[in-house]
Amino acid sequence: MVSTHPAGVQNAGTQYLPPRRNTSTNISPNQELLPLTAKVNSDDNLEIGGCDVTNLVQQFGSPLYILDEETLRTACQQYRDGFQRYYPGASQVLYASKAWNCLAVLAIAAAEGLGIDVVSGGELYTALTAGVNPDKIYLHGNNKSRDELVLAIESGVTIVVDNWHELHTLVETLHTGVVETLHATSLHGTRVMLRLTPGIECHTHEYIRTGHLDSKFGFDPNDLGEVFEFVSQQPNLTCVGLHAHIGSQIFERQPHRDLAAVMVEWLRDAKKYGLDITELNVGGGLGIKYVESDDPPSIDEWVKAICEVVQTACAAENLPLPKLLSEPGRSLIATACVTAYTVGSSKTIPEIRTYVSIDGGMSDNPRPITYQSVYRAVIANKLSAPLTETVTIAGKHCESGDILIKNAQLPKTEPGDILVVMATGAYNYSMASNYNRLPRPAAVVVANGEANLILQRETYQDLIRQDCLPERLKN
Ligand code: PLP
Repeated sequence: MVSTHPAGVQNAGTQYLPPRRNTSTNISPNQELLPLTAKVNSDDNLEIGGCDVTNLVQQFGSPLYILDEETLRTACQQYRDGFQRYYPGASQVLYASKAWNCLAVLAIAAAEGLGIDVVSGGELYTALTAGVNPDKIYLHGNNKSRDELVLAIESGVTIVVDNWHELHTLVETLHTGVVETLHATSLHGTRVMLRLTPGIECHTHEYIRTGHLDSKFGFDPNDLGEVFEFVSQQPNLTCVGLHAHIGSQIFERQPHRDLAAVMVEWLRDAKKYGLDITELNVGGGLGIKYVESDDPPSIDEWVKAICEVVQTACAAENLPLPKLLSEPGRSLIATACVTAYTVGSSKTIPEIRTYVSIDGGMSDNPRPITYQSVYRAVIANKLSAPLTETVTIAGKHCESGDILIKNAQLPKTEPGDILVVMATGAYNYSMASNYNRLPRPAAVVVANGEANLILQRETYQDLIRQDCLPERLKN
């Protein structure tokens, strides 16, 4: 039976149900709890990308990351088109791939015209292997190794220089010829940006502006003159831009407005040192809806706010418009993915709580135990069943704190039910571990009723692949 329900709300007594809509146009994925293609199908099961979630679990196993291609592409398009609509200068959206870095995700982002922000040699290698154009790859990191710098130089990506040590290492690396093959684009100098700490910090509802910031990232803006002076004297470096990132899961627009204004002042100062800086990267940070009460601005509203401030500030300083970059992670991918688990044991402690255990936990989603993050879940095979239980969803790890959701309102659960946790696309797989030697789950991408594997489920053999047993320790 197909249930009737108002759009995207939880009726008293029923689970959160996907909104009914004819089109997903103009819906900002970061303001939704479920992927845009989520539906209740004729079997009363949750369907995503035209695939019944319970069938996906049967076919690909459990736990399973399910990535909805349409939601990811829509978010990419909204960022890309927003900059083109509101900013008369050039722009480039980068996907902050630390949110979820794997070949298929990077290939989708790149196909939508996005560049990729990477933070390690491993992420860089994955982006290059996914076929991302090196001109659109930016390497971050507060302690890049010499090898990572060499890989970046040789492959012709832009390096976002974080500190003096890195700047000196980079210059020395280029001087001493450690680099074997300079990428064609590096012949005129390796492209670098400078990361600065703007004294603005923001996470969800906390917004702090200070002169100095307690952050391990970036140059102190008070050193700006010295840094510009040094960089302007390096024949092997082309300083193309400035970068700053002020935080994550941000719900207000003012912090980024302030940031953009501060960055334009830096741009003005660079001119005094003869530097022709043409790119400004305002970082990422737009928040998403994890629970109904979360109310982030839409992608469109966020992009508009930044574009307006940069234009106004440049006009006031009489500066040409820089190429405007941003690098969202969470708001691009979080909502596109859900994690499906299978319910197993449960334990009721009278007058205290009921624990319902699932077959994953902190190893596939470390955010609740690390950041006390909150999530919503539904039982995918009982969408219209009445809510009768308030339970605590426990992971299977040997750790009392391995709790995914406290006080989840669910129908009566039984072993074998499929619990779907929403908005798990960002910082879940990418932060996953093998704690307790649990193999990492598989991931599939779904679209138009088709599901394709994008990450194989790890096997026990995978778990011991890197283990070495010295001869003298063998029994
Ligand atoms: N850029 C930088 C430098 C970051 O450190 C981060 C996240 O930590 C991001 C972009 C992406 O942020 P978000 O996922 O909040 O959009």
